[in-house]
Amino acid sequence: MGRGRAQGMSFTRSGLGFDLHPLVDGRQLVLGGIAVPHERGLGGHSDADVLTHAVCEALLGALALGDLGRMFPDTDPRWKGVSSLVLLEGVLDTLRARRATLVNVDVTVICQAPRLGPHLPAMAARLAKTMGVETDRVSVKAKSPEHLGCLGRGEGIAAMAVVSVEVP
Ligand code: MG
Repeated sequence: MGRGRAQGMSFTRSGLGFDLHPLVDGRQLVLGGIAVPHERGLGGHSDADVLTHAVCEALLGALALGDLGRMFPDTDPRWKGVSSLVLLEGVLDTLRARRATLVNVDVTVICQAPRLGPHLPAMAARLAKTMGVETDRVSVKAKSPEHLGCLGRGEGIAAMAVVSVEVP
């Protein structure tokens, strides 16, 4: 059963999340639950909010609960076009059921265009509110791929996230 645990002690676990979606015509671009003006949006089964998906993947990873696709299959019509904040709430419910509490989240979005800087505080605030934590526990940063590779050509947007959670 692994190493023994002292009564009342909590443990910090970390999780890593990564996601990537293509930019396509005819979709609204949603990142961190915020609609960002752009001529294209991300393609996917849900609203394809790549930033929120990376956070979800990291939270699930922290508790070794598999990935987002396992929890919310893209073959399930219930999740078609759904806000990824709904998926995040579902992931948070799973964490709470295990009495895990979020310590902090750090996310980087890799995006050639549009410029995300002005929108980052709103994204962090929206994610923090959805997760029920103070805004200063959620960091959202953007990085330009410097015109390199598929991300640099604007073919898609990627995001990576790290989270820490405390578990009893
Ligand atoms: Mg995804």
